Amino acid sequence: MTKQPVYLDYNATTPCDPAVLSEMLPYFTQHFGNAASRTHAYGWVAEEAVSIARERVAKLIGADSSEIIFTSGATEAINLALQGAFETYQTKGKHIITFQTEHKAVLDTCAYLEKKGAVVTFLPIDKNGMPDLVLFEQSIRADTILVAAMYANNETGVVFPVNEMAAIAKKHGVIFFSDATQAVGKIPVDVLKDDIDLLALSAHKFYGPKGVGALYVRRKNPRVKLNPLLYGGGHEKGLRSGTLNVPGIVGLGKACAICLVDMQNDHLRIQQLRDQLLNGLSELGCTSLNGDKQHLLPHVANISFDFAGAAQLIGQLSKHIAVSSGSACTSASAEPSHVLKAMGLKDELAIGSIRFSLGRFTTEDEITTALTKIKQVVQELRSV
Ligand SMILES: *Cc1c(COP(=O)(O)O)cnc(C)c1O
Repeated sequence: MTKQPVYLDYNATTPCDPAVLSEMLPYFTQHFGNAASRTHAYGWVAEEAVSIARERVAKLIGADSSEIIFTSGATEAINLALQGAFETYQTKGKHIITFQTEHKAVLDTCAYLEKKGAVVTFLPIDKNGMPDLVLFEQSIRADTILVAAMYANNETGVVFPVNEMAAIAKKHGVIFFSDATQAVGKIPVDVLKDDIDLLALSAHKFYGPKGVGALYVRRKNPRVKLNPLLYGGGHEKGLRSGTLNVPGIVGLGKACAICLVDMQNDHLRIQQLRDQLLNGLSELGCTSLNGDKQHLLPHVANISFDFAGAAQLIGQLSKHIAVSSGSACTSASAEPSHVLKAMGLKDELAIGSIRFSLGRFTTEDEITTALTKIKQVVQELRSV
């Protein structure tokens, strides 16, 4: 068997933690009941497992368990938050504020809402990927109903000052939604302290299974009302009809419980490895880190390689290292990343950028191997 490439793409997805998987498994076979079956023990067992998971998710983000709505992932949670809030509050106003560096799940949903009559402001960010809070406050209008600002950026790892942004939104009576898919389980997120009204998360970004996530919906100060995307059995307080994915939800809960305990240690260890990678790369010369160094997730480094042929780098590396490019696709006609472009990077530099994202199972050996390979490939490309 050939050796697997070193996995440094944890922001795309993470492996399921074995402890998460083993808690899930009985819910496929032995405890297969429908959590909505009220008339027998099969249902009660499933319902009990869902209820424990709901509490675990709530605890990790400082919410009450009654404020957690299970979904198929962050994309669905984002759609439910944005479409659901717009439909409910559009009689109050039709203005939404978001940022140019948001995930496509937010940007595309906003574009869809524009067709439905919403007026959306896509605010710029500075060259470090940070928002201008004065401009943000100035852009709030009398008819603004909703702000969508991500907690941490998936491409650069830049962490927004969500606490200050939510305080500004609150001052103006505007609902504050945060796509926290990259932050939850990695850094402390607290919806109460941060004054967040709606928050999306996804299990597979923090060692849970794919296809399950949650939306936090604030219940008081203010109570946020949403229209559902799906109609049916009225599950999840009528906000998300459909039989609950019990094994997935159990996995999400366990993943949250593990992060609550291990986050801080993981954080320090992974940050050290990330910094080791950064130092090694800077020895190569002609590299630069994208994003505000003071406000970065501990496990992410988005690096521009500035030399002829940098765009070929990822292809050459792919046999040895699994990373993601700063561009939206890796074909010959690669589109530069909308995030790096919004930060003012020139196309060549954006296309020659690589996102390294480390995680719980990254080892020092893997970083050493990755550095050796990168140095080798960069030197080869530079010599032609
Ligand atoms: C991965 C990701 C999403 C989409 O999550 P899914 O659960 O895969 O739908 C949304 N936003 C951000 C910031 C992400 O990193």
